[in-house]
Amino acid sequence: MQNQVPVSQNRPVTGRFAPSPSGRLHLGNLACSLLAWLSAKSQGGRIVLRIEDLDAERCPRVYADLLEQDLAWLGLTWDEGGSTGGAHAPYYQSECGDIYTQSYRKLEQRGLVYPCFCSRSQLHAASAPHTSDGNVIYPGTCRGLTPEEIAEKRKKKAPAYRLMVPDEEITFTDGCMGTHTENLLRDCGDFYLRRADGVFAYQLAVVVDDARMGVTEVVRGADLLSSTARQLYLYRLLGLQPPRFAHCPLLLAADGRRLSKRDGDQSLENLRAKYTAPEIIGKLAYAYGLQPEPAPRTPESLVPDFAWTKVPKQDICLPEGLF
Ligand SMILES: [Zn+2]
Repeated sequence: MQNQVPVSQNRPVTGRFAPSPSGRLHLGNLACSLLAWLSAKSQGGRIVLRIEDLDAERCPRVYADLLEQDLAWLGLTWDEGGSTGGAHAPYYQSECGDIYTQSYRKLEQRGLVYPCFCSRSQLHAASAPHTSDGNVIYPGTCRGLTPEEIAEKRKKKAPAYRLMVPDEEITFTDGCMGTHTENLLRDCGDFYLRRADGVFAYQLAVVVDDARMGVTEVVRGADLLSSTARQLYLYRLLGLQPPRFAHCPLLLAADGRRLSKRDGDQSLENLRAKYTAPEIIGKLAYAYGLQPEPAPRTPESLVPDFAWTKVPKQDICLPEGLF
């Protein structure tokens, strides 16, 4: 399957911020937000803010509110969404269960969804085949269960639900990383649509939300590159028009570790105490090749300098002492 259909002319360029508020914004997700904003604005486009709090217990609303405050402080504005609202509300995934259920039912009615009773330890057994990024490739253990076997297993355990995937290459052109091909059956296996506790999987929610919010380009971290084939398959099954994708290189600490929320000194809380907003934006723009030195910049001032061709394709090691 090729996904190189140009976005139709009548859809306005719409990018998005889709943070998961399980903590304060940190440099890694801030870098992706900056690139998403610059990419949309350099095409005269708009930005939607969606709060990805599917796991509502891990994502308290107080963090969502702080995310909005941090983005606004940095000058990364949005045109619709978050607590601002807009035509495609709700913008909190925790409030969208009914919307995801409708799409889930469509897949179920086509006979593409089946219950999976495998335990974590079964799935993560040492013998299980793994992808290059450490995910387990599901071998289809529960695909062929008979109705009687399912009824029996249900007495002991609530199942999760998986989507059957085809043995087929899915190829797309990423705006940053170039051509990428994946065979879902070989590289991923049947994937989760819904957890045993009823929470919908990220893959389903993100597709349904990007489609209904009119998102035409998704900019996110390269760690999600391998999710894209799964999402393109869902777009196809649900008859939805996919966006373009651009996966930006991840920021690594000076010692080569991937930055994460555990790096407290890279959280906006600490960065705001040390730097002004233009200082932070200018340093990030420098790290991502958008300017030759780490001079303070506003997001607006960087719009004419932005081009995906300038952004490196490899993960970026933060220069020592930059932050
Ligand atoms: Zn299973």
